[in-house]
Amino acid sequence: MTPTISKIIWLVFMAAWVVLRQRPGRHSRKTPISYSRRDIRERLLMAASFTGLGVVPAVYLAIHFPRFADYPYMPVLTYLGIVVDVASLWLFWRTHSDLGKNWSVSLDLRERHTLVTTGVYGVVRHPMYSAFWLMALAQVLLLPNWIAGPAGLVGFGTLFFGRVHREEEMMMSAFGEEYRTYMERTARVVPWIY
Ligand code: SAH
Repeated sequence: MTPTISKIIWLVFMAAWVVLRQRPGRHSRKTPISYSRRDIRERLLMAASFTGLGVVPAVYLAIHFPRFADYPYMPVLTYLGIVVDVASLWLFWRTHSDLGKNWSVSLDLRERHTLVTTGVYGVVRHPMYSAFWLMALAQVLLLPNWIAGPAGLVGFGTLFFGRVHREEEMMMSAFGEEYRTYMERTARVVPWIY
């Protein structure tokens, strides 16, 4: 194992994630949006997440910037990163198959939106965000750099904490008591803990 291989592994997982998103993306475009909270704030939050999980690590891979923030490489971190990234991709795949046509990249409700509370949604109410947290953690483990590694945690963390309350509010106004009861019996992203 070398730092270069570790970086390539990050890239391969990122490519696999992009491929995995293609089908849900095509499907969801076919289902019209009936209500949206995709405002400027949402767009900025998504840009922050995209920067941390995509742009910063891509620049690091392409031109090795910021080189000054490199730290000594430890192969064990790459192996851990692979395990975490596999878990993340598996969870992405499961959330997409459970959410089906209800999925949106932002805060939208679709025509004939249904509340999903089974499958991985029976365990936590934001499993796709759990998958993103795992993806950000894998980035820390795979990239031996104090800036490019944690950039995903900072970027996605900004999106998560800036969005999750608004998403729950939106779901509560759409599904009322049903969502409230669902909230009472599920954690947000870490089963039984948070
Ligand atoms: N926060 C969820 C979903 C992310 S996708 C997760 O992390 O798994 C974002 C869209 O999913 C939101 O716009 C909302 O319309 C929809 N959504 C969120 N929770 C849902 C649920 N339990 N059932 C159906 N749709 C849901």
